[in-house]
Amino acid sequence: MRCSKPDVRLRAVPRSYVSEARRRGLGRRRERIGPIIERLAAEHADAEIALRFRSDLELLVSVMLSAQTTDVNVNRVTPALFAKYRRPEDYLAVPPEELERDIYATGFFRQKTKSIRGTMRVLLEEFDGQVPRRLEELLRLPGVARKTANVVAAELGHAQGIVVDTHVRRLSQRLALTRQEDPVKIERDLQRIVPRADWARFPHLLIWHGRRVCDARRPLCEGCVLVDLCPSARWVWPSGQTRLSTTTTARQGGSGRRVRNSSQIEQGPVRWWRIGFV
Ligand code: SF4
Repeated sequence: MRCSKPDVRLRAVPRSYVSEARRRGLGRRRERIGPIIERLAAEHADAEIALRFRSDLELLVSVMLSAQTTDVNVNRVTPALFAKYRRPEDYLAVPPEELERDIYATGFFRQKTKSIRGTMRVLLEEFDGQVPRRLEELLRLPGVARKTANVVAAELGHAQGIVVDTHVRRLSQRLALTRQEDPVKIERDLQRIVPRADWARFPHLLIWHGRRVCDARRPLCEGCVLVDLCPSARWVWPSGQTRLSTTTTARQGGSGRRVRNSSQIEQGPVRWWRIGFV
């Protein structure tokens, strides 16, 4: 016999964060994007690319190596790599097996070797050995997809799109800045609302917020500077309350989660309202 007990957990999940934003009266995404950027910029003033490089070529290679691995892992490999391979010609002067060994620790080393060597060949044949700035040109390099091209263009000071990685995707959806799943469509939605001057730094802000606060499985909504702008927040302020602003920690409400300002919770009329699951 089937159990008719309602699934409370599932019912608590907003069907669409966009409609949830409307239901909570958070305002349109065009209205929220300014404060979102402003608060994230204040919270993560140090947000920047985590890869270490000293030239355009090193940037391009680092970003190519970062596919399917962490920036930390890439940074472990690149000092020795860049000491050995200084120009595009250097990557072609050794047998592929040698380059494979040199980048082995970054994973997918065979495919990455093929892409890097193909890219070096095109750089020499079509771009005088220089890394191009334009997105269409970067996309002609073997193994360089849209995300890599956007990262490189932005870091070289010529952002022509918005980088969409796993953090940017997750946070854009949670903040109801997009309904889309496909990175290209997400980028298009973001381009419509994020001011062009912020195209380069916006992904860094989301990436660092995703790493430090809005974790995929355990978002720390209680201490999040976006809690009153986010339709996915597990906890909301009663209307009229301002957001938390300091960095002390406390336990509250039996949640066992870290929050930012214990004094506000203990002293004032402020109460957290638990409203569901992300
Ligand atoms: S309020 Fe929660 S879900 Fe929304 S951005 Fe902050 S941590 Fe993420």
